[in-house]
Amino acid sequence: MYDVIVIGARCAGSPTAMLLARKGYKVLLVDKVAFPSDTISTHIIWPPGASRLKHWGLLDTILSSNCPKISKVTLDLGPFALTGSPLFSEVVEVIAPRRTVLDKILADAAVNAGAELRENCVVEEIIMDENRVTGIRCRNKGGSLVRENARMVIGADGKNSIVARTVDAQEYNSRQPLTCWYYTYWSGMPVEDIVLYSVPNRAIGAIPTNDGLTCLPVAWPANEFHDYRSDIEGNYMKTLELNKSLAELVRQGKREERFFGMADLRNFFRKSSGPGWALVGDAGYHKDPITAQGISDAIHAAEMLTDALDAGFSGKETLEKALEHYELTRDEEVMPMYEFTCDWATLQPPPPDMEYLFTALRENQVETNRFIGTLAGTVPIPEFFSPENIQRITGTMETGSNIT
Ligand SMILES: Cc1cc2nc3c(=O)[nH]c(=O)nc-3n(C[C@H](O)[C@H](O)[C@H](O)COP(=O)(O)OP(=O)(O)OC[C@H]3O[C@@H](n4cnc5c(N)ncnc54)[C@H](O)[C@@H]3O)c2cc1C
Repeated sequence: MYDVIVIGARCAGSPTAMLLARKGYKVLLVDKVAFPSDTISTHIIWPPGASRLKHWGLLDTILSSNCPKISKVTLDLGPFALTGSPLFSEVVEVIAPRRTVLDKILADAAVNAGAELRENCVVEEIIMDENRVTGIRCRNKGGSLVRENARMVIGADGKNSIVARTVDAQEYNSRQPLTCWYYTYWSGMPVEDIVLYSVPNRAIGAIPTNDGLTCLPVAWPANEFHDYRSDIEGNYMKTLELNKSLAELVRQGKREERFFGMADLRNFFRKSSGPGWALVGDAGYHKDPITAQGISDAIHAAEMLTDALDAGFSGKETLEKALEHYELTRDEEVMPMYEFTCDWATLQPPPPDMEYLFTALRENQVETNRFIGTLAGTVPIPEFFSPENIQRITGTMETGSNIT
């Protein structure tokens, strides 16, 4: 009998298992893959995520994998670009490690903390006793079907979570898919900052990652996925041509890997706990990757869920109350970014009042840094986009007041 079984050993599951094991709980961590293992995801971890990795003693290991530190982010709007640093006071760098690197380090950290890791282990069933989850049935590497029991089963098993499906976790605030993505890796493109390119009806990023490679993700509207897929390379390259300076960089570079793609990116929250179960990471809250929040959010949610479970198990609070608090706090913290993400993912050009703000920011490095901080999670969105703050930056209450 385990205290906790965690299903899924990537950026939500492994930190949850690690933190619980560090507190002395008996944890089983299972994943159907073996690490190192890639997944469809680019790599940005914003300062709040990197700071937590540092606090857990894992940041240096990640950096020593030949993963660059990134201090600046550029929003290239075509006619001009805004470059700023979201690094204020004690926050550490932005990083963008390959998932083969990050997820292995996280899984190893869980094992080092005392969690039992079972790789190549597919959870086929969530076992319920009346309405309480009591364990899992999983197929081990050798093919045997095994039952394991726990006080709590955590679904850190991504957006198609078997835990969420079994308990029929209610979805709320959901939105249809807005974008679809292809990305690949380039050498010979000396990019030091993260660059986000604003181009009509598309989105492009440039992300410096391990071993001197640059990841270039390209998004199209979700309803154009079939057109995009009909000629992935042609459409991808045509999109890169929409920004002249990027097109020039790409001509100097060399594509090093195949294309990776993903569609069906619904946006939703799920009720994230119930008798004997809880959800963490994408399983509990999934959003479009355009603002690159998923890894940092998963890392944060792992910490919040661990605190809630510890409070419940140790009797400081009832487990039910502690888990309710976990979900409420998560939702409250991420909601402004969720709305911002869903707006951005429509791939519509910035409205006139936002363009007006961008123009004002060109002359104001301090506020540009703070604007970049809203993307990076170091400046609260409601604070920066408050009418008073926008008025202060643009000098006009009327033009600024509609920006949210
Ligand atoms: C194109 C794209 C680009 C992205 N770019 C970024 C970015 O730059 N920055 C960022 O922060 N986020 C990004 N994201 C989002 C990010 O990838 C996710 O938010 C993050 O991976 C969620 O982590 P997770 O641990 O919750 O789930 P996942 O990464 O989905 O991991 C779930 C794990 O559960 C395992 N699992 C599932 N079912 C079972 C089962 N039945 N039995 C055993 N194991 C199981 C899977 O094998 C998997 O390893 C991107 C996403 C996409 C699609």
